Amino acid sequence: MNHPTPQAALARRPLPPAVVQALQARFGERFSTSAGVREHHGRDESPFPPALPDAVVFAHSTDEVAAVARLCHDHDVPLIPYGVGSSLEGHLLAVAGGISLDLSQMNRVVALQAEDLTVTVQPGVTRKQLNQEIKDSGLFFPIDPGADASLGGMCATRASGTNAVRYGTMRENVLALTVVTADGRVIKTGTHARKSSAGYDLTRLFIGSEGTLGILTEITVRLYPQPEAISAAVCAFPSMRSAVQAVIETIQLGVPVARVEFVDPLAIRAINRHDKLALPELPHLFFEFHGSEAGVREQAETVQQIAADHGGQGFEWATRPEDRSRLWNARHHAYFAMLQLKPGCRAVTTDVCVPISRLADCVGETERDLRASSLPCPIVGHVGDGNFHVVILVDPALPREMEEAEALNRRIVERALAMGGTCTGEHGVGLHKMDFLVREHGEDALDLMRAIKDALDPKHILNPGKIFRASR
Ligand SMILES: Cc1cc2nc3c(=O)[nH]c(=O)nc-3n(C[C@H](O)[C@H](O)[C@H](O)COP(=O)(O)OP(=O)(O)OC[C@H]3O[C@@H](n4cnc5c(N)ncnc54)[C@H](O)[C@@H]3O)c2cc1C
Repeated sequence: MNHPTPQAALARRPLPPAVVQALQARFGERFSTSAGVREHHGRDESPFPPALPDAVVFAHSTDEVAAVARLCHDHDVPLIPYGVGSSLEGHLLAVAGGISLDLSQMNRVVALQAEDLTVTVQPGVTRKQLNQEIKDSGLFFPIDPGADASLGGMCATRASGTNAVRYGTMRENVLALTVVTADGRVIKTGTHARKSSAGYDLTRLFIGSEGTLGILTEITVRLYPQPEAISAAVCAFPSMRSAVQAVIETIQLGVPVARVEFVDPLAIRAINRHDKLALPELPHLFFEFHGSEAGVREQAETVQQIAADHGGQGFEWATRPEDRSRLWNARHHAYFAMLQLKPGCRAVTTDVCVPISRLADCVGETERDLRASSLPCPIVGHVGDGNFHVVILVDPALPREMEEAEALNRRIVERALAMGGTCTGEHGVGLHKMDFLVREHGEDALDLMRAIKDALDPKHILNPGKIFRASR
């Protein structure tokens, strides 16, 4: 797949003057057409060239979001919800122009229901902010994409992170939503009850909809008791396959690890440099265990034995909070550390996820592809979920590099699909994975998805051009 110039994909037309006047009157300085603000909202972490919205509105309430949606609907103006802009697949690029609706100032924790282990937040609350604000309750929110993303953006991309192997993804952890529809109605989905059989599951429909079906303005998520004991460990392996086999066995035995992350030798070099660590440049697994003192000890002993059976060396413990943070901060910085391996580069990040029984084959065959590549391609992965990322470092100005990266990406995705997996475990489709959806779901399923889009957003004003090609 060539990287299309997204700007060329859809026709743009200037904002109608009536829309500009109405937004200026209602939002004052919170309505901006300045180049700097538009640039900030028309790019993301993908290698796609920026595509700027015509204007940006900073919303403060559900009523304001509904008013903007009604206005855009009445005037056929594209409307792109914006969290904190950390998505990786071109999700935010305004390929048809229009309004970027920035929700980052809707950042209030609305209500903590500690007895129910739930919290209701506005969409601009970030995952770190949430954990900081609820830390005295003894509860925590586990989902942790590498970036400090907003809960709204995380819902919209069906995000996960290093803790998903134990606590699930946004799909499992969102109970209820307030949603502004494309024509400006305000609906509630779900309840605060743990389960419900009441009709179609609209909550799940919006989770992963990438801003194309509605704008999320309030979110109720599950929380978990902070574990009594936490310990972390890091272990080097002689080969990628042996590390992955250790993970497969750990999961198949049902050990409830909280985190197990794979980091390949090139990624280790990057984080050593970035975080001043001195890990040997070998394939590594990073582990974290949560539970009671006894439970954590038991899990860790089981995993240490499994690792040893697969040639794991130097199982190193980090039980003090500062040592654990150092290790996991290094893992969380890995993306930016890897970018520094090739100054000025951007990353084409693959995101396949396969059934755990196929993980060793998938990683092994991918490793062979990468050896033949001229590009630096470190690998990191949430391998406990069967999900791994090849971070292909490219100069986007060089078509040869982009073509090589896309050819690699395509091979990796095709392999994962053939193994019963998915083209994207957590980053979403955006502009980049559209071509793989038919392969993954089939034409009939895609037609059904399009019918849902038509029903919820008949004028196709919400984040046009994403998930489906030329949806306008
Ligand atoms: C270093 C790094 C590491 C990352 N690691 C991970 C990881 O481990 N796991 C993972 O899942 N992702 C990861 N990501 C990707 C990214 O953090 C997630 O996709 C995240 O969920 C995006 O949230 P955001 O607030 O930045 O959303 P944005 O980037 O602002 O928006 C993303 C999409 O959501 C839509 N959207 C935003 N807010 C709303 C709303 N309120 N209502 C409706 N639609 C909305 C937007 O229109 C857009 O389509 C990583 C990114 C980086 C840069």
